Amino acid sequence: MTPVIKVSMLSKTFGARRVLDQIGFEVAPGERVALIGPSGAGKSTLLRQLVGLSHPDRGSPARVEVLGRALSRAGRVRRGSRAERLRTGYIFQQFNLAGRLNVLTNVLIGRLGAMPRMRALCGWFCADERRMALDALARVGIDHLAGQRANTLSGGQMQRVAIARALVQDAELILADEPIASLDPRAAREVMEILERVSREDGRTLLVSLHQVDYARRHCERAIALKDGRLYFDGPIGELTDDRLESLYDNLALDAI
Ligand code: ADP
Ligand code: MG
Repeated sequence: MTPVIKVSMLSKTFGARRVLDQIGFEVAPGERVALIGPSGAGKSTLLRQLVGLSHPDRGSPARVEVLGRALSRAGRVRRGSRAERLRTGYIFQQFNLAGRLNVLTNVLIGRLGAMPRMRALCGWFCADERRMALDALARVGIDHLAGQRANTLSGGQMQRVAIARALVQDAELILADEPIASLDPRAAREVMEILERVSREDGRTLLVSLHQVDYARRHCERAIALKDGRLYFDGPIGELTDDRLESLYDNLALDAI
């Protein structure tokens, strides 16, 4: 089976600091992978590489392939057409919704073609699009909030909107960068349950960076851990023992992780 993500020799340097150091891994279709590691380990930088928001060091032998398409090669980025980009859904820690637009519109932004802002502001959507967005909102449990402004939602509700947006995009790959870091424990649990469910039920591949290892153990089958920009661990989540975790986090007390 062709991997959904294929990365090799990926290095990224900011100034004198090598943030990613010759990273290589593959992710198969439908896998749920947790990306873990201490703050500053390079998790966000790596995820940004997978959507073309950042590029590998120029002149390096890096290769980044996502959904069968070479996104960057030797430091040159090809972001691809809009349709190609929509095959990847991206969920941020800080929600990234258009606060003054309503929930339904925020979901539909995932599907818009030309002049997305203009269409969103004018509410130009056909009945099919609206139905699709409402179905997606129902799957994440907030269809009753469709008409509400995004900036009135709780953090957990905002992340559900972001997941619904990935669903209307019909994203085959969902990348989520610390999606629960700003949420209370209950909202965090619910958002992780939804992410796991939309991955399991639809076969969508999930790569999610997480600070809390407990959630990784509960919802993901594999972990990739970064430490100081290097690949520290890549394997079944069950093999990420407490000993390994302690040295990943440089012997911080485990209950502080
Ligand atoms: P993580 O998400 O694991 O906390 P990041 O990928 O955000 O780590 O950052 C890794 C390191 O790279 C940090 O030291 C951060 O300060 C640095 N970094 C990230 N982006 C930039 C940038 N655009 N310019 C300079 N340094 C950056
Ligand atoms: Mg980060």
